[in-house]
This record gives sequence, C-alpha cells and structure tokens, in this order.
Amino acid sequence: MRIAKNIKSVTDIIPNNVKLVAVSKTKSINLIESAYRAGQRDFGENKVQELVNKFENLPKDINWHMIGHLQRNKVKYIAPFIYLIQSVDSLRLLIEINKQGIKNNRVINVLVQMDISNDETKFGFSYQEFEELINKNEIKTLKNICIKGMMGMASFTKDENKIKDEFYSLHKFYKKHKKFLNLEILSMGMSGDFKIAINCNSNLIRLGSSIFGDR
Ligand SMILES: *Cc1c(COP(=O)(O)O)cnc(C)c1O
Repeated sequence: MRIAKNIKSVTDIIPNNVKLVAVSKTKSINLIESAYRAGQRDFGENKVQELVNKFENLPKDINWHMIGHLQRNKVKYIAPFIYLIQSVDSLRLLIEINKQGIKNNRVINVLVQMDISNDETKFGFSYQEFEELINKNEIKTLKNICIKGMMGMASFTKDENKIKDEFYSLHKFYKKHKKFLNLEILSMGMSGDFKIAINCNSNLIRLGSSIFGDR
C-alpha cells in the first residue's frame, strides 16, 4: 500500500517521457512484488548476485537495470537477461559485455557512466575520456552492445546549485553526441535530486528510498 502510494506520488508529478526505475537494492522480494503489483516494471540493482537471485524469483516481464560498479568476471551471470547496464565505466568492460552478448546471441543495451561529480568514490568517464572512447576503432567492432545513452550522479551535497550545474553540463554533453551516436537515454536523478535532474532534461530517474523507504 505504502509503496504503491509512493510510486503514484512520483509518477503523478514527472513528465510522461521520463522513465522511473525503482532502485530495489537491499529490499526484499516481497517489497518488490508490492511495487510490481502497483504496475512498476523497471527495477535497479547494484550487486550481481542479488540481481540474479531476484531475477530468478520474480516475474519475467521485469526490466532489470544494473546500476552499480560491474566487475568483468561477473558480466556472464547477468548477460542472458539484463535489460540495461547503466554503469559501464571502461572499454575493457564494454568488450566483455560484447563478448557475453555474442555468447547469448543478443545485443546488450548499455549506458556509459559519466563522472560528473567531485566525489572521489564515484566511477565513470570524464568528458574527454568519453570522446576518446567513441573515437576508438575498436568500439565500432562491438556489434553485440548498443550504447543507448549516459548515466551520471551528482555530487553528494546539499548545494542545489552545484547539483544543477553538474546535471546541466551532462545534458549539454549528451546533446552534443545524441544525434551522431543515436542516443536516447539520459539517466540522471535519485530520490534527493530527481526534480533538479528532470529540469535539466533527464529522461530516466533512479529512485530507491523515496519508493521503498530508507535503506
Ligand atoms: C542507490 C542508488 C540510487 C538510488 O538512490 P536513492 O537515494 O535511494 O534514491 C540511484 N542510483 C544509483 C547508481 C544508486 O546506487
């Protein structure tokens, strides 16, 4: 009941073109089922083992998003079913995802994670590294991945102007590459900052605590 209400209060205020991914990391199968019954189909997880376990125990029409740092040796476990890997932070990881895509005879959709904050702990490409990445010949040979867009996390701060600057600059960079690379998804915004992110043209928000409560 509470979860259904939380989902509704978000979907009521976000534009139609913005997709809500419910971040269910650490949350039980039961809680995810409540969200599912409320109509939610996109869920995000950040640990491979937990993701695989939930995939196996929940309805098969769920779209699973990997949103956490992904080790290359674990790609094989999620490759058969993952809907979108949002957290690609190296060429070596892209190459491994492509290899597992070939093995599973599917094209795996990914977002490139962009490092837009000054937080030391966050992963991702700088703007310059992204441009080096897409200019590499090797990237053009990877036929079993599809780069759908970019994901970014703002700094962990209460300074809304700083968060806005970071989202604004990522949107600008996304727009610069959108056409040529055929990008569709700009994933920005979590429970604390999704309204700012949507104002900066995010079209995918990843909400955990505002849907499921504190972790
Ligand atoms: C945990 C997490 C979220 C959700 O965070 P909330 O603040 O609970 O909404 C979103 N994105 C990523 C990458 C996360 O790790």
